[in-house]
Amino acid sequence: MSSLLLLGLWLSAAGQPAWAELDIAVITDEDSPGAAVNTVLRSVQEDVDAYRMNPSQSAQAIKNHVSKGLRATYATAEYQYTEGGKARTHTILARSGADPQLPDAALVQPRAGVTIARLDYPGFESVLAPAPGSVAATDAELKIARTMEYMTKNKKLPLGGELRMWISQAPCESCSGVLDMLHTKVLNEQRVVVRYLPVNSTGDLNSPSGRFHTSRKALLHSLQGAGVLNQGNPEAIRVLSCGPG
Ligand SMILES: [Zn+2]
Repeated sequence: MSSLLLLGLWLSAAGQPAWAELDIAVITDEDSPGAAVNTVLRSVQEDVDAYRMNPSQSAQAIKNHVSKGLRATYATAEYQYTEGGKARTHTILARSGADPQLPDAALVQPRAGVTIARLDYPGFESVLAPAPGSVAATDAELKIARTMEYMTKNKKLPLGGELRMWISQAPCESCSGVLDMLHTKVLNEQRVVVRYLPVNSTGDLNSPSGRFHTSRKALLHSLQGAGVLNQGNPEAIRVLSCGPG
């Protein structure tokens, strides 16, 4: 068999060349926006669950957490890789804002295969910096990028996988730069796909952003005892985010 043919076979088996691109785009109707909304909502659900397990929060602290969450950017990333011949997925969830003070390490990795992203890891120096002087220093995308960097450099995740990320809104200029650095400096130009919910300029509740916001509100308000959702119930998310129509 010729080496050219071998190369062709390798390319088609791998599905993509090793020098794959960074692909950032808005979610369109062809991208099954409903599934994308549900994926972003996983980070809201995890945020609510972790906060709920955080003991002795005052009513005021909970109120602050909820109102900040209503304005925050949420992002969910899935890293698909192969380990010991098995395909695996690690999920990284992020909400913009300062790192939470989680008393229990289990809350940072609530389950096997799931990590709640942080900006800072003790004793770890990141090469990923937001634009100087920008307000993006606590953005959700930066948290996910730093967490990928921390985990790959500390051999908690292998290189060679594919990263897919869903964000509740378009990445800002600073975060776009950070994602580019993640792609080139950390992930050796492995494929990175980023999709974000479109701007909802008309306030349409049935738009992807409208559905996301309605469900996020219900999930966050459940922290204040006003909601009816069971924690960790994906069915509740699904029903809510499908909404009317
Ligand atoms: Zn940003």
